[in-house]
Amino acid sequence: MNSSDKSKPLAPVFVRRPQFWRVAKRCCQIAGTVDVAFFFLFHAFGSPILAWVNVISVSMYVLAYQALARRRNRLAIALIWTEVIVHAALGTLLIGWDSGFHYYLLMFIPALFLSMQLRAALVSLVSLWAFYVVLDAVMWAIEPLQPISRSALLAVHLFNLSVVFAMFSYLSFFYLKIVNSAQRKLRQMAATDPLTGLFNRRHMIDSAERELARFERNRHPIGVLLLDIDHFKTINDSHGHDVGDKVLVEVANSINSQLRTQDLIARWGGEEFLAVLPDTDLEQARAIAERVRQALMQQSWCFDGKPVAVTISVGISEFEEGDELKSPIKRADKALYRCKDNGRNRVEVCSGFDKIA
Ligand code: GH3
Ligand code: MG
Ligand code: MG
Repeated sequence: MNSSDKSKPLAPVFVRRPQFWRVAKRCCQIAGTVDVAFFFLFHAFGSPILAWVNVISVSMYVLAYQALARRRNRLAIALIWTEVIVHAALGTLLIGWDSGFHYYLLMFIPALFLSMQLRAALVSLVSLWAFYVVLDAVMWAIEPLQPISRSALLAVHLFNLSVVFAMFSYLSFFYLKIVNSAQRKLRQMAATDPLTGLFNRRHMIDSAERELARFERNRHPIGVLLLDIDHFKTINDSHGHDVGDKVLVEVANSINSQLRTQDLIARWGGEEFLAVLPDTDLEQARAIAERVRQALMQQSWCFDGKPVAVTISVGISEFEEGDELKSPIKRADKALYRCKDNGRNRVEVCSGFDKIA
């Protein structure tokens, strides 16, 4: 191996999926308990070898559980694989294929794909298949080495079948939970701005379009606020980008806390926020904007012991008949411009001139 090979990190075989390893721990507990039951069952059925195999099995599950608790996942998987394969093979060879011990091997198929990288999972899958087929073929050729009575065999068969059913159901339920939680996370990531946690522009456009459609049906007033932090570039330049980010987060929280649950608020651009307020006319929107502005003024803005001057300007408009979504936003933007022209830290409502200009 040359030096460049040495420095190359080994591709991980097992995937980082903490939920899976939690389920693996639970499976160790279940399998260990089942093996304790087997110990007594096989004594009663007159198969002492299989009974004592379960003592080793339980010890292996205890070790695997401890390994999982210490995140030694490779060791845990090696122990679980060895236990299941040897146990399934021994059970099948001693009391026959009809014991149903081979069903446990099938449980590895979904577990392989959940726990391993695809290539490792495929290699393990082919090995598992070969083992299963060979075991099946051997049992066609030979008689069980330590047969038990037909009724005992039926009891073992039904017991194994039921345990495998229960464990498969548990794995499937868990898989569904992983998929659902991944989907939820993706949906949330696609809709939110990572810095402020508010809706992002794209999600706001979708939601505001729905509000516009509702407005066209019922004509309930809908207010629009375009809020922009004043002289934000100066804040960045004087206090650094990190303080700028903290100001953005605090301003976002403050605006959000002043709005109602049914109001929509998004980070619309760098230091600009857009709020869409259902059932709110221009006058009510102005009062809300004024409340937001005052709340920011009353907050003490101090980062790393240094005071920072934070104010906002707010342009206001409302949805009107025949509007496309961009129309009220454009009018609010014009009102916002007037705030800036008139000295900032103020609220302006769009005027008739804003509509035609
Ligand atoms: P005005 O009062 O006219 O709005 O002036 P302004 O300085 O607030 O506006 P301007 O558009 O000149 O500057 C906005 C600045 O916001 C420039 C950009 O670097 C900064 N900015 C945009 N996004 C972020 C961000 O995510 N974090 C930080 N810290 N700064 C950002
Ligand atoms: Mg600004
Ligand atoms: Mg701006």
